[in-house]
Amino acid sequence: MTECYDVIVIGAGVMGSAAAYHLAKDGQRTLLIERFEIAHTFGSSHGESRIFRFAYNNPDYARLAMQSYPHWRALEADSGEQLLEVIGGLDLAHEPVHYPNVDAVADALTQVGGRFERLDAAQIRARYPQWRLSDAALAVFSPDSGFLRATRCVQAMVAQAAKHGATVREREAVNRIVPGRPVEVVTDAGHYRADKLIITGGAWINELIRYVGLQLPVRIEQEQVTYFAPLRDAERFQRDRFPIFIHWRSPIPAYGFPMIDKPGIKVGFHHEGYLIDPNGPRMPRDETTRRVLDYVRAHLPDAAGAPFEPTACLYTTTPDEDFVIDFAPDFDNIVICSACSGHGFKFGAGIGRALADLVEHGATEMNIGHVRLRPFAMGSPAQ
Ligand SMILES: Cc1cc2nc3c(=O)[nH]c(=O)nc-3n(C[C@H](O)[C@H](O)[C@H](O)COP(=O)(O)OP(=O)(O)OC[C@H]3O[C@@H](n4cnc5c(N)ncnc54)[C@H](O)[C@@H]3O)c2cc1C
Repeated sequence: MTECYDVIVIGAGVMGSAAAYHLAKDGQRTLLIERFEIAHTFGSSHGESRIFRFAYNNPDYARLAMQSYPHWRALEADSGEQLLEVIGGLDLAHEPVHYPNVDAVADALTQVGGRFERLDAAQIRARYPQWRLSDAALAVFSPDSGFLRATRCVQAMVAQAAKHGATVREREAVNRIVPGRPVEVVTDAGHYRADKLIITGGAWINELIRYVGLQLPVRIEQEQVTYFAPLRDAERFQRDRFPIFIHWRSPIPAYGFPMIDKPGIKVGFHHEGYLIDPNGPRMPRDETTRRVLDYVRAHLPDAAGAPFEPTACLYTTTPDEDFVIDFAPDFDNIVICSACSGHGFKFGAGIGRALADLVEHGATEMNIGHVRLRPFAMGSPAQ
């Protein structure tokens, strides 16, 4: 028997869960379909933390982060859970070639009215003696940065969507979409119709959007985060003394978190670029763990204890590292969303609002003009 809805959302990562949460709250009859179990660890949205920040080197993302903030706070109010902790964040550089990245963060924050402080090497050393950086180091400190509890955000949004009447089908893979009015969605367990469709899909986006004649030239990268137990003075790596950080450096930036519910700080490299098949296995790599340990030894030596719980996760990266959120060309009732490139989570609650607005009203006040479909999205015959 075919079930009928106002809106079907494919994929229950942070983007699809957020869309379903807003749609259900708006009173839309919503179906959320996820191929694995809710909050699984095969995609991009799992783990205990993701960086939240307005501090971007691009004012459009800074604005979108600011717009997303109240939606996270509303989710906390709805769910009764603390999901976002604001503890401050540092953008650091110690090589002149990377100063423009830090300057761009200050410029973008100035443009959007965000708060920040510039720090020189002596100030960084005095405030954050955990860091070993050269005398040429500089930083921007943003008091509004912090972290989101990633898995718990997804679980909270799915629970709230269900509470507001959404149907949630997990362990059910979509294997066909027939665009039209209504749009039809076929899974390995059912057949559904809806007036509108939102396609998220993370690393599997191309398997889904081929049905609307699109392909994105995305790279699917296995990325990794690893925990390091402090060797001494563990209290200096707690959230009240050790802000989240992004270290602009060569060959690739590093980022990290204080100790949050684990006996160690969490550190990763941004865009290691290890390409994998999302349908194949993913395993943390010893080589990556060793390289991140070398980094921690060089710059945060008191935290360079035994690495533990290396965790793999997928980046789905567009050529310009910007998201893609738009109507599928030729279908004004189908919206696609690829919002990763390694930095999408913080916008989740806001992008969910944008996705819901697009299918409900055809437009949104969320700042997504810079991530609409661009020429690199290639046509591909629907099959
Ligand atoms: C290591 C790592 C660190 C990161 N750090 C940060 C950070 O600090 N701050 C930040 O803002 N962002 C960060 N990100 C990026 C952020 O996590 C992603 O942008 C975000 O999780 C993408 O969510 P998504 O919903 O698009 O994708 P996903 O979470 O992958 O969700 C897509 C879902 O679609 C489902 N699906 C796919 N195909 C089908 C199908 N046929 N049928 C049904 N379901 C289907 C999948 O199973 C999956 O659950 C990080 C990412 C990684 C990997």
